[in-house]
Amino acid sequence: MFINGEWVDARSGATFAVINPANGEHLGDVPDGAREDAELAITAADAAFHDWSMTTAYERADVLMGAWTLMRERADALAHVMTAEQGKPLRASAAEVAYGADFIRWFAEEARRLTGEWLPSARSNQRFLSVQAPVGVVAAITPWNYPMSMLTRKMAPALAAGCTVVLKPAEATPLNARAIFEVFHDAGVPPGVINMITTSQPAPIGDVLTTDPRVAKLTFTGSTAVGRVLASAAGGSLKRISVELGGHAPFIVMPDADPVHAAKGAAALKFLNAGQACISPNRIYVHQDHVEQFTATMVERVERVKTGNGSHEGIGCGPLVNDAAVAKVEAQVDDAVAKGASALVGGSRLTDGELAAGHFFAPTVLSGVTTDMAIYREETFGPVAPIIAYDDPDTVVDLANDTNYGLAAYVYTNDLSTALRTVEALRFGIIGVNDVNPTSASVPFGGMNDSGLGREGAREGLLEYLETKTAGIAI
Ligand code: NAD
Repeated sequence: MFINGEWVDARSGATFAVINPANGEHLGDVPDGAREDAELAITAADAAFHDWSMTTAYERADVLMGAWTLMRERADALAHVMTAEQGKPLRASAAEVAYGADFIRWFAEEARRLTGEWLPSARSNQRFLSVQAPVGVVAAITPWNYPMSMLTRKMAPALAAGCTVVLKPAEATPLNARAIFEVFHDAGVPPGVINMITTSQPAPIGDVLTTDPRVAKLTFTGSTAVGRVLASAAGGSLKRISVELGGHAPFIVMPDADPVHAAKGAAALKFLNAGQACISPNRIYVHQDHVEQFTATMVERVERVKTGNGSHEGIGCGPLVNDAAVAKVEAQVDDAVAKGASALVGGSRLTDGELAAGHFFAPTVLSGVTTDMAIYREETFGPVAPIIAYDDPDTVVDLANDTNYGLAAYVYTNDLSTALRTVEALRFGIIGVNDVNPTSASVPFGGMNDSGLGREGAREGLLEYLETKTAGIAI
């Protein structure tokens, strides 16, 4: 763990094992932190806050630019850590390292654009000044699926704003978090400004982070169920809250779209990170005129995806995070098939040869998916593409909106008016139009309804770590 600028053990001396999900290899042991460790980390962050918040934006930007440079220099080593611990193919890990580093550069640049306002008064002998101040100590809890970029997306804006941080990474990916903390530490972030607690028992740590009055803000990325619990707890002490949660993305192929182009996009997107992405399409609505060609293209693409250990050449789909994840995907597929869907490719666990030692599910295309199937409502978080044929383009957006989630949505169309009208009607925070990667450090990322509160990235992502202060000045 990392507390007050030093790598430390848990006070209890306890550790837990880190396992490679592709082959069960024991990658090492990390400290198993408990409440007392979290309290020490908060004490360090609280003590460091005053001095860090008083640094100039130029100083903070320089430290962040240093971290960005280091992350790029270490890109190859970081990608190997990611693939070993999280499982995604090396190329995808390299892409995430680049994406994660970009948040650091973006917020380093934004740090220097923190401004205030000079506001009018009704009194001639009064002036108003409004400035933005860092919120204070930030508690950050992050998931395993994007184990580096979800850290930099929180830490970079927090540091740019002048906040200090206590971060708890997911228990599946502490080595990824350690590598990111090494980057920030080596870039010269002062002691106490960033702190990290690793643990195999997140609930007690979550309890400390959401109830300690010295913590001013909670930022969380993970499942809706856990986010709801943590946001409620943090609400008790009126902390600022941002939570990026689950999704159930619709992917709409309109009658005027090119079905082959759309299928290629859907295939590329769905199997990214073995489907373990919050913006992964979970309901693929294809107009009935296109469903045959779309499905054939998708199947042909998916048949070519090689599943296995992400560190091997040519692998397109890695393992799932653990056996519970495989069991969840399997249950959704079995439920869909029992209710009439067809698995045109894949459809089961993969256990042949060396895959038996990991957590693998075959890339799967399901056709004939209907509203009564669990997969139609529940987030899959696995490599399954459910295809639903529809006939009325005027009502397909209503179908897409019929979910409690509101994170990402996609529409394929060759008509500008249809594209704009669909973007306006979809109740989702992130929308791809003929585009399967509608994300970047420079744009807001986040969802509506059960998908969360607040935005990360872009200018909005920095404002989440700032309070507005107003000064009325009599002259
Ligand atoms: P999760 O909610 O189980 O875990 C997320 C984090 O919360 C981990 O660090 C975990 O240790 C911690 N946690 C779990 N229970 C806790 C508790 N009681 N107190 C404190 N911390 C606790 O989710 P996951 O399985 O790691 O991640 C997958 C989920 O994350 C999916 O639903 C996915 O859609 C979502 N996700 C969302 C985004 C987004 O930006 N919206 C990005 C990535 C992942």
